[in-house]
Amino acid sequence: MADLLARNPGDHHPIPSRRAPAPHAQTSSFNFKVLSTQAAADENLKRTVGAATVKQWTSRQVSLRQLPDASALRHLAGRIKQHTLDHLDYYLEQLIDNVERRGGKVHFARNGGEALQIIAAIARENDCKICVKSKSMVSEEIELTPVLEQQGMQVWETDLGEFIVQVNHDKPSHLVQPIIHMSRRQIAPLLCDYFKTDYTDDPQTLTRHARQFLRDKFRQADLGITGGNFLVAQTGQVCIATNEGNGRLTTSMPRVLVSLVGLEKVVPRLGDLSVLLKLLARSSTGQAITVYTSLFGGTRAAGEKDGPEQFHLVLLDNGRSEILAGDYRQTLRCIRCAACLNACPVYRVIGGHSYGSVYPGPIGALITPLFRGLHEYNDLPQASSLCGACAEACPVEIDIPQHLVNLRRDIHQKKISSMGERLIYRLWAASLRSPLLYRWSGRAQKWALRLRARFSGGWLKKLPGPAGGWTQVRDMPQPAAHTFHELWKKRKK
Ligand code: SF4
Repeated sequence: MADLLARNPGDHHPIPSRRAPAPHAQTSSFNFKVLSTQAAADENLKRTVGAATVKQWTSRQVSLRQLPDASALRHLAGRIKQHTLDHLDYYLEQLIDNVERRGGKVHFARNGGEALQIIAAIARENDCKICVKSKSMVSEEIELTPVLEQQGMQVWETDLGEFIVQVNHDKPSHLVQPIIHMSRRQIAPLLCDYFKTDYTDDPQTLTRHARQFLRDKFRQADLGITGGNFLVAQTGQVCIATNEGNGRLTTSMPRVLVSLVGLEKVVPRLGDLSVLLKLLARSSTGQAITVYTSLFGGTRAAGEKDGPEQFHLVLLDNGRSEILAGDYRQTLRCIRCAACLNACPVYRVIGGHSYGSVYPGPIGALITPLFRGLHEYNDLPQASSLCGACAEACPVEIDIPQHLVNLRRDIHQKKISSMGERLIYRLWAASLRSPLLYRWSGRAQKWALRLRARFSGGWLKKLPGPAGGWTQVRDMPQPAAHTFHELWKKRKK
């Protein structure tokens, strides 16, 4: 500890870009089946992610029960978001006027490349050398850090989870808890090694070390970058919700402040925040409200002691207008609370890295193909059992299972799936439409499976072709001799 306090912050080499090749960076090699199978076989990962998600899920349930009528509130939140999306042009204009009235400048980026150029130019023109970032999924989406580093800047993540990701040259694997895939025993040696302190896995001591280290970065920083949970059109403000206070320091200490936010984050009025904030923290961590909820916008006013000399709001499109114009508009309601991840039986087993994008879990399975292309990410809509837990969890009532089914339909209609797969689905659909065909195909399957199981003690150990997945990690019992319908008929006689 004394060591840490005595050490000059300059002793730490800036962390070079953490962009270790990620699956999605090498688009042609992204293979959800391989990644998810590997993840599912990692017992450590399963235990760590499973325990954390179940804990958050349980806290959410308890926390929502404290509300007089959580369902009505969720319904209202969904309507607020949907109304804004339906009139987005109007509210964006209002937002831009109000940000400019406060002395800020608004930039519109059609895609990630434009956003990178805009932010890099702001940093360059203002001769910024050290950047502090508060948590921002959108900056991950466009991979901002390496671009700033390439022009000689030091970039520091100041959210503790994101800082650990940065030190570990890793990627976030959860929308709210970026290091949900790591256990305390994995984090402790990493941080102790980085800070060059004696080994400890005491969370408070480790946090204290990180806090002292990052405080110096805040003092030195000339550029602050934030995301935004919401943009309030009525007042021209950005709203961020954090638990560590790093967001406040990021927005108040550096002389230049940039907020990079997806354009779908607008809400009409301040009053709408009272609905959405009530649900955001409850849905993600089970807290009644996050520890720090900050509203900011514009530049430092005369007489104010802190705040930026320049404020830039970068509104990112990057595929959002296209989604807005199509059948999947509702998905833009998402407030990135991660409740659907915590609820999802698939995410709980495979964690976030398998999804090959900064947006994992059910919402990631939905928006990643929409953002990045259905061809490349056509496995993701299948990464769901369609159990409905995600829709039940969603505070803004996005019907995730229905949209996933629609994406599967699109994959079929656009002939992205293989011919064999399309043929199987056609036959399946035909048999579901005809009771006679359904009965006969069921009988044929039963007969074939029972025959196969006869040679391996009544169990199916290895099925051929596409059916092989069912027996990949477990044996399957042979079908019963009589179907439920047959037994039912017999009983009624
Ligand atoms: S889809 Fe709903 S539950 Fe999932 S992160 Fe978005 S708002 Fe939260």
